Amino acid sequence: MSHVFHRHCHHLPPTIASGNGMYLIDTQGNEYLDACGGAAVSCLGHNHPSVLEAIHRQLDAIPYAHTGFFTSAPSEALAEKLAELAPSSINHAYLVSGGSEAMETALKLARQYWVEVGEPQRQHFIARRQSYHGNTLGALSVGGNAWRRAPFAPLLMDTSLIAPCYAYRDQGPDETAYEYGQRVANELEAMLLEKGPDTVIGFVAEPVVGATAGALTAEAGYFSRIRAICDQYNILLILDEVMCGTGRTGRFFAFEHEGIVPDIVAIAKGLAAGYQPIGATLVTDRLYEAIASGSGFFQHGHTFMAHPTACAAALATLTTLEQEGLVDAAEKQGEALKTALHHQFDSHPFVGNIRGRGLFVALELVADKTSKRPFSSDLALHQTIKYTAMHNGLMCYPMGGTIDGKQGHHILLAPPYIIESTHIAAITDKLALTLEMCLLSQ
Ligand code: PMP
Repeated sequence: MSHVFHRHCHHLPPTIASGNGMYLIDTQGNEYLDACGGAAVSCLGHNHPSVLEAIHRQLDAIPYAHTGFFTSAPSEALAEKLAELAPSSINHAYLVSGGSEAMETALKLARQYWVEVGEPQRQHFIARRQSYHGNTLGALSVGGNAWRRAPFAPLLMDTSLIAPCYAYRDQGPDETAYEYGQRVANELEAMLLEKGPDTVIGFVAEPVVGATAGALTAEAGYFSRIRAICDQYNILLILDEVMCGTGRTGRFFAFEHEGIVPDIVAIAKGLAAGYQPIGATLVTDRLYEAIASGSGFFQHGHTFMAHPTACAAALATLTTLEQEGLVDAAEKQGEALKTALHHQFDSHPFVGNIRGRGLFVALELVADKTSKRPFSSDLALHQTIKYTAMHNGLMCYPMGGTIDGKQGHHILLAPPYIIESTHIAAITDKLALTLEMCLLSQ
């Protein structure tokens, strides 16, 4: 019996023993080709020497000191590096321990900003259906994943949810992709007018939707319309790049593809490539100055924030991304991966849509390609696919369909940026075999 409280109480996963580059190896000696970086985390692959060395160096110097007493060289250097990578109006990073913490920070920072500038009546967030921003109660409140929210619904903040930009499912026959993007962006304006713009703190969205809708990019023009609406009605734009940020889409920030700058952006998973737990909430000077020159104190914090060892790992990760040209590699290899997936699955009877940006791509599965009818959400198809893929030596990230039948099961791929063409070929082969084994009986 395991004394670890595993999330899936009746499934004990294999025990990990070691890792090397694109592969993880369990204690039975089974090798798994990592096509999803865990959950889009391991952007450098496993056991990269430069990150390990930076961690060891920091452990030898000082592993931890509480931020109530000290700052540290790695946290100062990391925040400086992030400010350098960010647009010129973003110069401060609040360093935490993961994605949910980064999003909680974003929400509280946004709220405190309005309190500082004398608008405490702003108490409401607008976000999108089919989104995920973390499992803590605040982050869960602005998430649109109905299944994750359901048991906790009575405990959550009242958030208004609008449609995501989901052309494969929603674009009308008589509108162009651009017109569709504008139409769904305008749902934000409609919701603002319904709620009263001066009661709203901000709008929360993932630039590329990750776990809940599978590498869902917005149509061109969608996010610039969203930014324009936020500016017109004076609300904050809070972007969640916990999954899609830190180079995964082929730019360091996914919002760079959209030609916009958010007021707040959260990053996490790839920030230290999984070598240490860390997240960051980056904020524009306008917001930072309002707090710094107002109360002078952000009323939020965590014991392990700006953890020196985690910051050292993150700094080494960013340096490695730069030195090895890995963000450009993510763009190039992402195209190669998508091309290979199209080649392998375009004519597959159950693959309805292949989408994504950079090394953040997904297949949406459908029971019927013409009508786009999803498999029943009662089917634990995503679990079957995950375990079958592991049996075939592949790690991928399948998710279930929505209970309202508006979205199918999907398989997310988010491999390390060190991926090479031989790995891409092995991923498509193993995935094809896995789908054959799982879907033959459907
Ligand atoms: N936001 C997004 C977009 C995510 O994908 C996730 C994790 N899947 C989170 C927030 C929460 O991050 P964490 O699991 O590190 O708390």
